[in-house]
Amino acid sequence: MKAEIISVGSELTSGQNLDTNSQWLSQRLAEIGISVGWHTTIADDLVDDVAAFRVAAQRAALVLITGGLGPTQDDLTRDALARLAEVELVFHQPSFDHIQQLFAQRHRSMPERNRVQALFPAGAEPIPNAYGTAPGIWMSVGRISNPSHCIVVAMPGVPSEMKAMFDEQVRERLLSLNPAGGVLTQRKINCFGAGESAIEQKIMDLTRRGHSPEVGITASDATISLRILARAANLLEAQLQMLPVEMTIRERLGSLVFGEEEEELQDAVIGLLQERRQTVATAESVTAGLVAHRLGQVPGASACLLGGIVAYDTRIKTELLGVPQSLIQEHGVISAAVVEAMAVGCRSRFGADFALSTVGLAGPGGGTPEKPVGLVYAGLAWDAGVASRSYNWLGTRAEIQSRTAKLALNSLRLHLLQMPE
Ligand code: AMP
Ligand code: MG
Repeated sequence: MKAEIISVGSELTSGQNLDTNSQWLSQRLAEIGISVGWHTTIADDLVDDVAAFRVAAQRAALVLITGGLGPTQDDLTRDALARLAEVELVFHQPSFDHIQQLFAQRHRSMPERNRVQALFPAGAEPIPNAYGTAPGIWMSVGRISNPSHCIVVAMPGVPSEMKAMFDEQVRERLLSLNPAGGVLTQRKINCFGAGESAIEQKIMDLTRRGHSPEVGITASDATISLRILARAANLLEAQLQMLPVEMTIRERLGSLVFGEEEEELQDAVIGLLQERRQTVATAESVTAGLVAHRLGQVPGASACLLGGIVAYDTRIKTELLGVPQSLIQEHGVISAAVVEAMAVGCRSRFGADFALSTVGLAGPGGGTPEKPVGLVYAGLAWDAGVASRSYNWLGTRAEIQSRTAKLALNSLRLHLLQMPE
C-alpha cells in the first residue's frame, strides 16, 4: 500500500509556516508498514485542491490530507472532497452537537460559520475530534485507472489535533486495512570527523541501491548520518535484519560514530564526563560561547560544565586567560600556539579537568591567502598536556561557528574515548 500526504494551506505554500505534519505522518505510516510515495503541498484554492486530490487518488491507495477543515472561507478541504467524489455536502447532526457543546463549555456563542464543520461529502464518515471543532473525514473514492478504491482521510491542520486524531482513531483503522503490511523501522547513526564521501567509501557495499536493509547517508552541518531502513513482518524481524548492518557500520567507522537518533556531540561528551566524574571549562573566541551553550543543553551538564569565557578581544585572551602577548605577536591570534595557550590558561583558572578553546575566522570578510575565511583551531588542555586541531571550513559565518563548536566537542570526545576510565 503506497500513500500520498497532502498538506493544504496558503501559509505553507507562501513559506510562512513549515509543513511539519507531513514529516510526522510519514514517520507514523512507516511504523505500520505503509510507505509514502508523495508529499504534496497546496494553497487554499478550491480548483487546485480538487486537481491535487484527483491526481493523488489515482496514483495512491491511501491519501492523508491535513488542513483546510476550519470554519473560515479559506478552509476548502470538505468542498474539494465533495467535488472530487462528485457528491453533495450533507449535514451531520452529531458533529454539529459536538461543536455546539465545545462552545457552550467555554461559555461562548457559536458563530454561524462553524456550522460548515458539520457538513460532510455524502457517503463519507465523520471522524470525531475530541480536541477541537474540526471533525476529520474518512471516505473512499473510486480510482479511474483501477477498479479498487482509494481511501482518503482528511484531518485538521493544527498539529496537536492532527496527531491526536491519527494516534487515537486513524492508525487503528489503517492497520486493519493493511494487515500484512508489516513494519518499517529506522535507525539513525550519527558520525563526525570525516566527509560524506569518505564515510561512504567505507560502507559502499551497504549503501548500494537494492541493499536490504536500505542504508542511506545524509550530511547536515558537518554531521554525517547513516539511516538504516528495514522492512519486515514484525518489529522483531526488522530489528534482527538491522542488527548485523548496524554492527558492521560501527565496526568499520569506529570512533567516527558518536551517537544514535537525535544524539549530538555534546550528549556524548557529557555522558563520558559523567561516567568519569570529570569537568570541563571553555575559552571561546570564534564560537563566542557556542561550545558552552551546547554542553549546557544536555540535562545533567551542571555536574561537568564549570563555566566558560567568551574571549573575543585580544585583551581578554591575555588578561583573563594569561596568553602571552609575545605569542600573539609571533603567531597571530588564529594559530595553534594561541588556541593551546587559551586552553591551558582556561583549565588552570577554572580548575577544570579539561578546557576547550576556539579561534578562527568566521568571515565573511577579513580573509588573507595565508589565513582564509573558515580557518579555525580548536584547543584541548588536560592534566598532562595540550593539543589542537585545525580545519578550514567552507560555509557561512553561522556554519563556520557551528562546525567549529563541533570540532572542539569532538576533540574532547575522542580524547575521553582513548583515556582509560
Ligand atoms: P487549518 O486546519 O488549515 O485551519 O490549519 C490550522 C493551523 O494549523 C494553521 O494555521 C497552521 O498553523 C497549522 N498547520 C496547518 N497545516 C500544517 C502543516 N502541514 N504542518 C504544520 N502546521 C500546520
Ligand atoms: Mg488553513
